[in-house]
Amino acid sequence: MVDQLIKYSIIAPVYNEEETLTEFYNRVLSVMDSLDGLSELLLIDDGSTDASLDLMRGFQQQTSLVRVISFSRNFGHQVAITAGIDYAIGDAVIVIDADLQDPPEVIPELVAQWQEGFELVLAVRSMRKGESWFKRTTASFFYRLINKLTDLHIPKDSGDFRLMDRKVVEALREVREQHRFMRGLSVWVGFRHTQVEYVRNERFAGISKYPLKRMLNFATDGITSFSHVPLQLAMSMGFIFAGIALLGIPAIITLRFSGSREFFGQATTLVSVLLLGGVQLICLGIVGEYLGRIYNEVRRRPLYLISGQWGFDSDDQKN
Ligand code: UDP
Ligand code: MG
Repeated sequence: MVDQLIKYSIIAPVYNEEETLTEFYNRVLSVMDSLDGLSELLLIDDGSTDASLDLMRGFQQQTSLVRVISFSRNFGHQVAITAGIDYAIGDAVIVIDADLQDPPEVIPELVAQWQEGFELVLAVRSMRKGESWFKRTTASFFYRLINKLTDLHIPKDSGDFRLMDRKVVEALREVREQHRFMRGLSVWVGFRHTQVEYVRNERFAGISKYPLKRMLNFATDGITSFSHVPLQLAMSMGFIFAGIALLGIPAIITLRFSGSREFFGQATTLVSVLLLGGVQLICLGIVGEYLGRIYNEVRRRPLYLISGQWGFDSDDQKN
């Protein structure tokens, strides 16, 4: 492939998407044809265990505009996007989900904004089709929380579907932290950005790869990577309870000396001990959460390991 000719790189993380891939590929390909420059499709197989990788290798054999990277195991959506950003060669890089929830036909609109001079174009969902009430409510709560707790402004309802100029891509390549929240990071790096609205579709087929536990981890990553507020929460709670105690102690002493029979007994003691114990454990847990993350970062393990790649000049023969 003639690297310098590639103007647009479309990167898509793929994890067990065998039912959608062919449709995705065909639709992306026709969008690629309609763009004003040469584009490549970079597919990152995040350790799929179904036929996804075989399908992708098949696409790669059809055209040299497709490149495939395969991870040695599942490293997660955000890391797969990172690998795409690391290997993309276009002047503009577009991140898109492979499940067709992000319609490829919106790409030309993102490109149009880029040509207007915007360096980061976020695709924002004006409507979310086929997502449960639970997913919509938790997502909206999460965006409100993260915007309150951090200095970032992440537009509500923006996913990972976006276009990034080469400058943004270079900046993101510098960021190597383990707990990656790409939506936050791409806003954190700065640059001129704008939004394009689109209707988010239902998944073409298959199920969401984000069960509740992964959603919670994802939300924790987002908040702890950009905010220390949870840590400070411990101190505020400490002050509140110490304050209550400071007021309570003289009150109880006074009541006792005035002969009142209230505020005695084990129940009061038990409740206050439970409350304070609980608060302390929560605070300890928050400290532990950050500590665990620091431990992960200092180990400096590679973010991902590649088991095969196809469509790359020097290693076409590999695997
Ligand atoms: N994905 C991935 N690795 C994972 C989970 C998901 O590469 O561990 C991909 C998945 O194939 C899809 C995209 O990330 O292309 C978004 O995942 P999904 O549709 O499951 O998330 P949702 O849209 O439900 O938030
Ligand atoms: Mg999806």
